[in-house]
Order: sequence, then C-alpha cells, then structure tokens
Amino acid sequence: MEGLDDIGASRACPSDAGVLRTDVLIVGAGPVGLLLANLLGTHGVDTTVIERHQTTVAEPRAVTLDDESLRTLQAAGLAEAVIRDLVLGYGVQYFSWRGKPFASIQPTRQEFGYPKRSAFRQPLLERTLREGLRRFPSVRILFGHELESLRQGEEGVHCGVRAHGEARRIEARWAVGCDGGRSTVRELCGIALQGDTYAERWLIVDLAGRTSSLRHTQTYCDPVRPAIRLPGPQGTLRYEFMLHAGEDDAFALHEPRFREWMARRHPEDRNLPLVRKAVYVFHARVAQRWKQGRVLLAGDAAHLTPPFAGQGLNSGLRDAANLAWKLAGVAQWDMPDALLDSYEPERRPHAQALIRMALRIGRFMQPKSRMGAAAMQTLLEAACLVPPVRDYVLQLRFKPKARLQSGWFDASEDGARARLCPELLPQPMVDRPDRSACRLDDLLGNGFAVIGWDSPAFRAHALALAPAGVPVQVVALCRAQDDFLDFRTGHAFAQARDGSGALDMFLDALQADALVLRPDRFWRRVVPAGELQRSEAVAQPLSFPHPDQAFP
Ligand SMILES: Cc1cc2nc3c(=O)[nH]c(=O)nc-3n(C[C@H](O)[C@H](O)[C@H](O)COP(=O)(O)OP(=O)(O)OC[C@H]3O[C@@H](n4cnc5c(N)ncnc54)[C@H](O)[C@@H]3O)c2cc1C
Repeated sequence: MEGLDDIGASRACPSDAGVLRTDVLIVGAGPVGLLLANLLGTHGVDTTVIERHQTTVAEPRAVTLDDESLRTLQAAGLAEAVIRDLVLGYGVQYFSWRGKPFASIQPTRQEFGYPKRSAFRQPLLERTLREGLRRFPSVRILFGHELESLRQGEEGVHCGVRAHGEARRIEARWAVGCDGGRSTVRELCGIALQGDTYAERWLIVDLAGRTSSLRHTQTYCDPVRPAIRLPGPQGTLRYEFMLHAGEDDAFALHEPRFREWMARRHPEDRNLPLVRKAVYVFHARVAQRWKQGRVLLAGDAAHLTPPFAGQGLNSGLRDAANLAWKLAGVAQWDMPDALLDSYEPERRPHAQALIRMALRIGRFMQPKSRMGAAAMQTLLEAACLVPPVRDYVLQLRFKPKARLQSGWFDASEDGARARLCPELLPQPMVDRPDRSACRLDDLLGNGFAVIGWDSPAFRAHALALAPAGVPVQVVALCRAQDDFLDFRTGHAFAQARDGSGALDMFLDALQADALVLRPDRFWRRVVPAGELQRSEAVAQPLSFPHPDQAFP
C-alpha cells in the first residue's frame, strides 16, 4: 500500500516473495536522511528511504543553516529552491544583563559561496528535499514504514519493517540510520550513546506574523531569564527562554506567562499568533561507533549537539555529504568497501569539536549570576576593542574548521613539507573564457575533480591523477592577475579564473600546482609545484589504502 507522500514506491525495484531489495536503505526521512537520498540520487545509486510517519515533519525544529550545508544542497541541485525559504545571512547580537548590546557576530565572508548563517524552517526544508527526490528514478521513499528488526549477513542487511500495520522485509547492501536522537538502528546494533544530557531546559515558542523587520538573532545573556529572539523566514519569530530548576513544563507552557516574558523584551511581540510551544532538553552526546559492519549512523542518530551554536543539524548534513559519495563509490564505482571505514574518523572529530563549541557558547549565554555575567561581558567587550579579536568574533572565526586528520586522502609526507590535512576547497564565483560567471562547484560537477594551474603538463596529465573508474571533471585555472589565452570551446576540461584570488591563495598555501578533489570538496591529493613536469610522478596512479593500515 502506498502512503500519501510516497515517491517512487511503485517504481521497478528488484523484489521476490515480498522482499524489497535495494543497494542503500536509509531509515528516517528527517533532513539528514532526505539530503543523503538526494545526493545518492545525483549519483544514480539505488536507494530506498523508509519513514515511520505518514509524511515529513510539520512542526518547526532547527532554525539555522550554515554555508557548508547550503553548498551541499547546491551539490544536490536544491540550493536555489531552499534559498527561496531562507533569511539569508543573519547574525547574532548579544545583550548584557542590563539589556545593553555588548557583542555581535555578523559574518560577511562567504568563503564557501554562501552566507555563514541563514534562518530556515525545518518543515519547508524537508518538503523541498522530499520533492527533490522526484527527480531520481533510482530513489524511492516509503512513508508509514517503521524499522523493527535488523540482522547483518556477509553480503547485506536484512530488515524487518512494519508497513501500514503489515510486516515487510527489506534487504539492503548497506543501511544508514538517519532516524534521529532515539535511533532504532543504533539501538538494534547495541551501540551506546556517550556524553551528557543537561539539567537546563529551554522553552521554545514559535510565532507567526512578526511586525519587526530586524533579521538578526538577539541573545539576552541575563541570568534572571536567559532568552533568545530569532526572526525567521516568512514572517515567523521564535523565542527561546531558559527555565530554572523547579520550573516544570506546566509552568513554562502557561501561555499568559511566556507572553509576558516576550512583552518584557519586545512589547510588539506579545500578541503574535502562536504556532508551537515546546520544552526542549539539550544533549551533548555521541554514539560510541558510527559504523558496524554494513550499518552506518548519521545525523542525530550519531551525535546530539546543544542548540546554542545552531550546528546540530548542520553537523548531520555534513555527515550526508561525507557518506553519499562513499556509498556511491562502493555501490557504483567499484571502490573497495573499506572506503566506508573512513567515514567515522573523518566526521567524528569535527562533530565533537562543534559540540564543545556549543557548550562554550551555552555557558556564555546562561550566566549563573549577574556578577559572573558582568565580568564575562565586560571582558568580551574589552577584548573586542582589539581588531583581530573583534574580527575573530564578528566573522565567526572561532567556529572549528573541518581538517581531516585521518581518512581517505593521500597525506604524502616527503620530509620537506609539513603533514597536510585536507580541508574544504573555497567556493568563489569564477569567470570563464566566454566572460560568464558561476559558482566554482558548478564547474566541478558531482564526482571527483582535478583543478590546477593551466599548463601543457596539466592538460596532458590531469585526468590520470584521479582514481580510475570514477566520474571526473578537470578544471584548468587561470591566475587572478592573468587573462585567458585559450578561447576555443569543445575541450574535455573547463577553464576558470577566480578574480578574488581566494583559489590562488589556497593553492599557493599548499604549494600546489594541482589538487585532486573528492566529491565532498575536500582535497584528496596535493600535487606539489613542479611535480606535473616530472612524468614519473604523474604516471603514479592514486591507490586505495590497504584496509589494515588505512584507518586507525
Ligand atoms: C521534537 C523536536 C524538536 C526540536 N526542536 C529543535 C529546536 O528547536 N532547535 C534545534 O536546533 N533543533 C531542534 N531539534 C533538533 C533538530 O530537529 C535535529 O537536529 C534534526 O532534525 C536532526 O535531523 P535528523 O535527520 O538527523 O533526525 P530527525 O529530524 O529526528 O529525523 C529522524 C526521522 O527518522 C524517523 N524514524 C525514527 N525511527 C524510525 C524507525 N524505526 N523507522 C522509520 N523511521 C524512523 C523519524 O520519524 C524522523 O522523521 C528538535 C528535534 C525534535 C525531535
């Protein structure tokens, strides 16, 4: 039986004796599962998503999307559709316990092609992601399907599913638990969740019909009632209030009371129509393992981040970006299964770093006493008089960058060069020989890419630098201070020039003539300056790490 929102349910799908077979089974149609399914769809991977509810969520939940998430949505072909429902580039203003502004975060840099923080509504994002799946004949989504049991064999994962009251079997080569904080997949695998659940509880109030046009978050660091006011897209507004010990749910959810709290901050908000009220407990927890055999965990199933940094969901979307091409690699491109072992070592340290950042911001936002608040706030105000510190706060430079310490990359250490840890390539707007401009990733395509300074050696050897059997796009770069010399069309490679110089700086800092990029836009290999001229180095194929030594 098909659910109301099922997509592709009746599409041809290998099945016998009532068993549905699929390459990748995604459990959970939250934002992480849906994005992963869209990315797998772009690679043509046979994918089935199951969701126990009849449709995607209707209630507002997470509210902040970052620049990396928008870049991943661009890879899924959905950035433009998602942006229509965003407040792009919102910042944060911090107010002292006396109501005086004392710090702000208003990043203007767009190193990955999008503003660092944008406000979104989870139901709209999920709807766009769900509708996006219609583009892919290889993806089906089944609502009203709840995972109940899971058993792993040599070749795959055997799942028992309750579908509209009836038992159904699904067999997948790999299964990904994107089933949220209370993950059934995690539980069925016996994987523990480590970390803490905090005593502080927050009341979340979502409202409609906002009358104030201010688009920045206002954070009131007042120990009497720490509060946040967040303007959202389409005239929405959210208030979040910290609750004190002894204030139970009934106390907090009493409407006249929280309307009074709102009115004390902004009288014009007092009577706005209510959309949702909920008490939210925050967790700082990480699953003990993110992979067990052929089962992987992603999103809230793998890590729960306190909401203060607006990073919980964004961390989950980063998981999807990291996993999607690896699943495509093993399912479509004949890459070894060991590639999937690199998922957790690459993602866990960064997810944990963001949890620590959220806890630090939380301590700042929830001062215990007015004296403590005054000391902390005066210190930050004074520190922000120093331009580099102000820049560090204002531009959000304190947000930990993802730098891969171990995983699937070539860490060539030749003694003369420091060990290099892969980072995300910047995404500037680039221009092309025909004088048109586009975002860099639109030239790089969805597979692997090789970019480097244009030269006869680069043109001759770039393609051979990429792994065999994967989709590859080659982009020959022109330096910022130069102009193109070759205006002919019909090359097997693209040409681009970054007038801002960001790409030049990135490659020069790595002393690179070329980079081999993975589909998630981390570099896989740095080709040192001069190496392309030496044919023996060029002839060296990229090798897969031996499974025993690859991932500690
Ligand atoms: C009630 C609630 C309120 C929240 N409010 C906020 C907020 O105010 N601010 C904030 O920053 N974040 C909030 N969050 C957190 C934020 O929504 C999550 O970080 C984000 O949704 C994580 O996405 P995900 O895809 O990993 O998991 P989820 O969005 O939790 O999606 C998991 C999906 O898996 C499905 N599922 C679960 N078990 C099964 C099963 N056995 N079989 C099939 N399907 C299954 C679920 O129905 C769900 O649709 C909230 C979360 C919840 C649950």
